[in-house]
Amino acid sequence: MSVQPRRASTASETDTVRLSGVGFGYADGPEVLRDINLNLPSGSFHFLTGPSGAGKSTLLRLLTLAERPTAGRLELFGEDAGEAPRAAMPAFRRRMGVVFQEFRLLDHLSAFDNVALPLRLSGARNYEQDVREMLEWVGLGARADDRPAVLSGGEKQRLAIARAVVTRPELIIADEPTGSVDARMAERLLKLFQSMNRLGVTVLIASHDQSLAERSGAGVLRLEGGVLEGASA
Ligand code: ADP
Repeated sequence: MSVQPRRASTASETDTVRLSGVGFGYADGPEVLRDINLNLPSGSFHFLTGPSGAGKSTLLRLLTLAERPTAGRLELFGEDAGEAPRAAMPAFRRRMGVVFQEFRLLDHLSAFDNVALPLRLSGARNYEQDVREMLEWVGLGARADDRPAVLSGGEKQRLAIARAVVTRPELIIADEPTGSVDARMAERLLKLFQSMNRLGVTVLIASHDQSLAERSGAGVLRLEGGVLEGASA
C-alpha cells in the first residue's frame, strides 16, 4: 500500500484542530503543556511523538475534551471547544473517534456489541452489516461473538480501533494505538489509519515509536517537556 503524502494546508481549508497559545496544568501542579500552537488541517495525518512524560496523553485529553486548557484557545471543527459549555461536549465528541491507550472495551459485551455500541448510542438502526464489515476490516471477522477477555492484546487494540472508526468520525485520535503489538502488527494497524486518512479523516496518533512515525510518511510533531517542536502542520 502506498503512503499518502500529507495534504498541504491552504487558507481555504478548514482546520479540524486549532490550538493557539494553549497551556495546561493538572490541579495545583506545574504547567504540563506550554504555549502550544498547532493547526491540523482537515484530512491531514500526524504523529505526536516525544519521550514519556512529555505531555502527549495530556494534549490528547485536551483534544478529546476530557480536560480544558488552562490558557489559550482550543478550536475543534472550526468552533470554540475549550470554553464550550459542558452540554456541548457530546456534540463535539460524536465527531471524533478515540482509541484509548488502555482500550476501554466493555468486558461484558461481545466484540460485535463493543463495536455496535457507539452506533446504538447515536440512534443508528440496521447497523449489523457496518459492524461486521468493520470487524472484517480489522481482521476480527471470526471473533465477533468473543468477549474482550479472550482476545489477545493486539486483537483488543484492533477492536478498540474498529469501535473508534465505525461511526465514520471526522477526526481520529489514538493514544499509543500500537503500544501492545509487535512490529508487524504495528505496520498493519498503521495501514488501517492510512486507509481512513485516505477517506478524508483527520488522524492524530500519539506514539513514542519515532521510527514508525517516520516510516508512516505522516507529519511528525514532537513534544518535549510540554513544548511542541516542529509543528509542521
Ligand atoms: P506522555 O503521554 O507524553 O507520557 P503525560 O501527558 O501522560 O505524558 O504526562 C505529562 C506530565 O503530566 C507528567 O509529568 C505526568 O506526571 C503529569 N500527569 C499526567 N497525568 C496527570 C494527572 N492526572 N495528575 C497530575 N499530573 C499528571
